[in-house]
Amino acid sequence: MRHDPLDVLVVGGSLAGLMAAIALVRQGHRVTVLERAPRHRPSGASLVVREADLRTILGAEHARAAVRSAGPRDTRRGTDVPATWAGLYEGLCRAAEAEPRLTLRHDTRVGAVGQDANSVWVQAGRERLAGDLLIGADGHRSLVRRSVAPEHPDAGFAGYVLWLGVAAERDLAYAGPWPGGLDIRDSGAHLLLGYPLAGPDGSTAPGRRRLGWAWYDRTRNEVFRELGAVRGGVGHHSLRAPDLPPEVIDGLAGEAGQWPQPWRSAITDSFGRVDFVGTPITEYLPERLVRGRMVLVGDAAHVPTPMTGRGFATSLDDAAALAGS
Ligand SMILES: Cc1cc2nc3c(=O)[nH]c(=O)nc-3n(C[C@H](O)[C@H](O)[C@H](O)COP(=O)(O)OP(=O)(O)OC[C@H]3O[C@@H](n4cnc5c(N)ncnc54)[C@H](O)[C@@H]3O)c2cc1C
Repeated sequence: MRHDPLDVLVVGGSLAGLMAAIALVRQGHRVTVLERAPRHRPSGASLVVREADLRTILGAEHARAAVRSAGPRDTRRGTDVPATWAGLYEGLCRAAEAEPRLTLRHDTRVGAVGQDANSVWVQAGRERLAGDLLIGADGHRSLVRRSVAPEHPDAGFAGYVLWLGVAAERDLAYAGPWPGGLDIRDSGAHLLLGYPLAGPDGSTAPGRRRLGWAWYDRTRNEVFRELGAVRGGVGHHSLRAPDLPPEVIDGLAGEAGQWPQPWRSAITDSFGRVDFVGTPITEYLPERLVRGRMVLVGDAAHVPTPMTGRGFATSLDDAAALAGS
């Protein structure tokens, strides 16, 4: 470590906040992570992980645990591995919980942040915590960004949405052949990314895995506006399948026929279970990432369009940069 140990506050305990926190305690600092969600949350589909970078930051043992849900390696993408969001999140939580100088607090919503020349503070309910440095890892609707970049606080709606789901190969009305790696299909107004993931038991044998799918759609922006997920030029939140009007799901199901197998069956299966997520894609080009003792990381910093699968890979760069500074 090149500095005296600092007391670091991290707002947001999702993938970027956990990665940054682990990287900083490994540099000898004391870190408190404040996350508004509970420890166990049912959510997420899949994303891309650069396993070698994860090993560098987490160490071999924790990195292995974090990617244990990863699917078969896609040779066309070198060392990138598709992993389930939930598996990676769980692995990172466990790695964080194993660090004695790291405090992970869930169910803790930060309502305000501030700083002076010598310290930072966060207000969480009635509690006020102080520290030397504050990391804003609070996602694409970042509260911390309002203090770091007040002149440019909001990420803009990119004009298209993404539907995401995961289905088990063995549940599908389809018997193979199964895909070996990432498959990309373009039908004009729609784009589909399909990729195999390991099965719930870790199996990577074709027919026993899960299939992740990501369907980019620029024809349903109005649905997101009507349901308040997009307001003005700003994307506010995702929509879970149960929150969607049945006619939207029926319309999507009707259009699933444009995709070849096994993706058509995987998507139809997710629709049948009403188990998928729709998210408005937002974009943010930062003008400022640091102000005084506050720093932005992950989607709070750059939003490489949330849930396009690359957000975590970019967050790893932030964690490595923080650990090295
Ligand atoms: C539940 C969930 C599921 C996801 N699933 C996928 C997926 O399947 N595929 C994919 O590519 N990407 C997914 N993402 C997005 C992905 O995690 C990010 O794009 C990327 O990894 C960068 O993560 P992040 O930590 O910067 O942002 P995020 O993952 O958005 O995390 C921000 C965190 O900050 C917390 N937070 C926000 N405001 C406050 C506050 N005021 N006080 C305390 N905590 C706060 C949020 O609860 C959240 O946990 C998901 C994100 C979430 C939260």
